Amino acid sequence: MAVKIPFPPPPPKLEGYAQCPSCLKDDVYKADLVCRHCGYTLRIPMYGWIGGALMALSMLPLFLWMFGITQINLLPLVGFLLPEIPFDTFAILGILMFLAGLGLGFTAAGRIRAESRQYSTA
Ligand SMILES: [Zn+2]
Repeated sequence: MAVKIPFPPPPPKLEGYAQCPSCLKDDVYKADLVCRHCGYTLRIPMYGWIGGALMALSMLPLFLWMFGITQINLLPLVGFLLPEIPFDTFAILGILMFLAGLGLGFTAAGRIRAESRQYSTA
């Protein structure tokens, strides 16, 4: 029976796969990050997704900083009563969010690589 393997294999999902999309073996474990047969990445841990989201969200305060926004005025009539935010606050917040996301992403990638090295025979 000819089995059609999709190329490239589908990307890792948050909930993991019931069957390895790369080598099509059925006995993959939900808790595993990589396939025990071929080392294919099945799942990215939650903190990896959070890190990616943080990196994407860090663009928001950086854009606010770029346009020199020092006051978030959501209430048109009383907005002027709000204290002004110091100029570099959004830049520092954005950089910290980006670095936190980068750290989480590298941690997730390191764990996937470590597990992959453990199972792959190559
Ligand atoms: Zn596999």
